Amino acid sequence: MARRYFIAGNWKLNKTVPEALEFVRDLRRLVSQVRDCDIAVAPSYTALWPMAQRVGESPIELAGQELYFEDEGAFTGTISGPQLKDAGCTYVLVGHSERRQLFGETLESSHRRLVAAFRAGLTPILCIGETQEERNEGRTAEVVGAQLEAAISGMEVSTLLGMVVAYEPVWAIGTGKVATPAQAQEVHRMIRERLRAHSHDLGEAMQILYGGSVKPSNAAELLGQPDIDGALVGGASLDAESFADIIKARPRA
Ligand code: PEP
Repeated sequence: MARRYFIAGNWKLNKTVPEALEFVRDLRRLVSQVRDCDIAVAPSYTALWPMAQRVGESPIELAGQELYFEDEGAFTGTISGPQLKDAGCTYVLVGHSERRQLFGETLESSHRRLVAAFRAGLTPILCIGETQEERNEGRTAEVVGAQLEAAISGMEVSTLLGMVVAYEPVWAIGTGKVATPAQAQEVHRMIRERLRAHSHDLGEAMQILYGGSVKPSNAAELLGQPDIDGALVGGASLDAESFADIIKARPRA
């Protein structure tokens, strides 16, 4: 089954509104001919609505960096699925390792966030990945598998077909230490096998992105692996030219 490539940028805590709009102007120009690749950017919340006004007919979609699992109420400082949808998002990251490590997100709360994302009509990008210590202990498959199974537990295959998975080894995020294409492919294949065990179609159809120090210089080799369908890009997505170069590095049209 031919899966579309998907390149998503995670800006984390970066960029003002004017900087975000300048990026949209530049990226629109750089990707105006791209038809065969899904593209999304996850800016800070303050930039979502202004960016939504500027992406126009371009292939650029917007993503939230996180969502709370309740839709409204007394939950100071967070954001809900319906609010992200209202601000123009198509996607939302769920379970990013920085959320898990710095903000106490658990296996259970990632599941609740996934449910909340679907409820709001958003496509969740479920982020999973092992730490360096877990990899050293030979526990990569166990840890990544547990994160995946906890998040999708009890959910219908027909619902899960509307999700994206991002494999992001924690040791490669923001460190400049990228997984080798072979290391990444091995885990991507394992993730796809696990999804196939739920449903053959789910395994075949799932876009599985790699994240962790992806740059224009290493993107083509990573994206050339059979089970790598795209990239979730942090640092290198802050610059429109380098983000566009990663999009253009996809080898299968
Ligand atoms: C990320 O934040 O999801 C990420 C992969 O960051 P970086 O590309 O900077 O490693």
